[in-house]
Amino acid sequence: MIKILSTGGTIDKIYFDAKSEFQIGEPLIDEIFSESYVALAYSVESVMRKDSLDLTTADRAVIRAHVEATSEQHIIVTHGTDTMVETGKALANIPDKTIVLVGAMQPARLRRTDAIFNIGFAVAAVQTLPTGVYIAMNGKIFDPQTTVKNVAENRFESSLS
Ligand code: GLU
Repeated sequence: MIKILSTGGTIDKIYFDAKSEFQIGEPLIDEIFSESYVALAYSVESVMRKDSLDLTTADRAVIRAHVEATSEQHIIVTHGTDTMVETGKALANIPDKTIVLVGAMQPARLRRTDAIFNIGFAVAAVQTLPTGVYIAMNGKIFDPQTTVKNVAENRFESSLS
């Protein structure tokens, strides 16, 4: 059984034509799983719907409390990429759980999105990685303690090199 906690971010964004505004919609992960004939047991809980740039320390404490209160061992947290590393660090040292943070550079509602690939990758990662907290993005696994987002290149990188 996998628990999915959604927190917002571009993965769930809805864009509007004439306005340069966005809203964060219902988590799309249910739809992605159903379109992908996913057969595993899972449940989705929407914890918050925020662009990750708007997340506060208090929000991160709420996300951590939800993870700690989850009985499942395998937890995927969907999250905006800009501050995914910070939330990953805020989820450190939770025993006996594999926690995988995932998001998308482009909204799941768009045809050319990385959301479906990233979610599939996160599902595999959460079931196979040892306990701990990880970022699973664009085909790579990262340790939040040693990772930065390269905003210009739209990708995560090691902060060690
Ligand atoms: N500001 C957005 C966020 O971090 C960046 C795009 C994304 O979600 O990846 O929520």
